[in-house]
Amino acid sequence: RAGASMEPASTEGQSDPPVRGVADRVVGVLGGGQLGKMLCQAASQMGIKVAILDPLKDCPANSVCHEHVVGSFNDGVAVREFAKRCDVLTVEIEHVDAVALEKLEKQGVVCEPKASAITIIQDKYRQKGHFSKFGIPMADFVEVDTLSSIEKAGEIFGYPLMVKSKRLAYDGRGNAVAHDKNELSSVVSSLGGFEHGLYVERWTPFAKELSVIVARSRDGCTVCYPVVETIHKDNICHLVEAPAQIPEKMKKLATSVAEKAIKSLEGAGVFAVELFLTNDNQVLLNEVAPRPHNSGHHTIEACYTSQYEQHLRAILGLPLGDPAMKAPAAIMYNILGEDEGDSGFVLAHQLIKRALNIPGASVHWYAKPELFFQRFGSKERWVILQLWGLLCSM
Ligand code: ADP
Ligand code: MG
Repeated sequence: RAGASMEPASTEGQSDPPVRGVADRVVGVLGGGQLGKMLCQAASQMGIKVAILDPLKDCPANSVCHEHVVGSFNDGVAVREFAKRCDVLTVEIEHVDAVALEKLEKQGVVCEPKASAITIIQDKYRQKGHFSKFGIPMADFVEVDTLSSIEKAGEIFGYPLMVKSKRLAYDGRGNAVAHDKNELSSVVSSLGGFEHGLYVERWTPFAKELSVIVARSRDGCTVCYPVVETIHKDNICHLVEAPAQIPEKMKKLATSVAEKAIKSLEGAGVFAVELFLTNDNQVLLNEVAPRPHNSGHHTIEACYTSQYEQHLRAILGLPLGDPAMKAPAAIMYNILGEDEGDSGFVLAHQLIKRALNIPGASVHWYAKPELFFQRFGSKERWVILQLWGLLCSM
């Protein structure tokens, strides 16, 4: 089997509710973006009810969820109210009010993964500190809060220097590269200044970027999906190759680093571990997401259990499914459009047409650009559609 750590998760002897009761329980998801939408689609197949909390009336998950509560996942009061109608709370985005989740947990509300995991992950600097305590290999990093401290870090780590915001980062927003000492102050300003919380990382000249999706059940069993390679374009995941074309030994190392990282966090669900593979065969952790991830979309068609179904199984205390691939290889191709107006759409439609003519390829359209703007507040870049093809050749 391609999936490592294939210990089958058993629920025998557990006190979790029987499968029969699943349809009566409501899974509450903080966020209704495309990941939330795909979670709802998997839930619908399994007869599971999903309520979502998202501020946008027309968010991607709106059309497929059981119930949409319009409200902010950053607003403690809204989260608390939302929790009343849910049997288990989970997230499709980590930038939620984690303090509210912590309070709710103390009152007996089930959150999976645990609020502690979300608190650690939503602050990338805290995340790094946490994983370094557990001996997870990573690029050197240090907090910076003044021009002199970032200059000192530049002297120690050298250039280029990766400068990152601690919080609210996604798709490369929140990262900036300083190529020499003279660029430091403009890079810091481009990230909103030191007051927003910054840290720096030593530049990692990686050979490949890898990702491992790890699922953990409520009783602590873990299963790992086959290691994939991710190729980014402008910091957005552009291409995923499953399985990664790397030696078996490196796959084992990547899987063990990912599993060790996830075992240091609390709670059930699917986690994604982004990794760097260096030219001297080291595997370094980049960052972790406490939820389904872009690098796991292909699992819908390519694996026995999709990351979305797996997340639901995990948080509801059901047996974990088989993460192994059904096809020898799969590719996920994410079409990113620059702000090209109509020509972007024409290109997208041409690509869809081509994809529909490839046997075994599937097309998933996930967000209208205007929704993307509303959600992320920028027209700088937008995702037109997502196109997944399964390459089933032997
Ligand atoms: P995001 O939260 O936006 O995914 P990441 O911290 O994962 O931000 O960085 C986005 C991309 O930037 C990574 O996928 C990788 O390509 C590149 N990157 C991040 N950290 C480093 C680093 N220390 N050295 C070199 N490249 C990096
Ligand atoms: Mg990342």
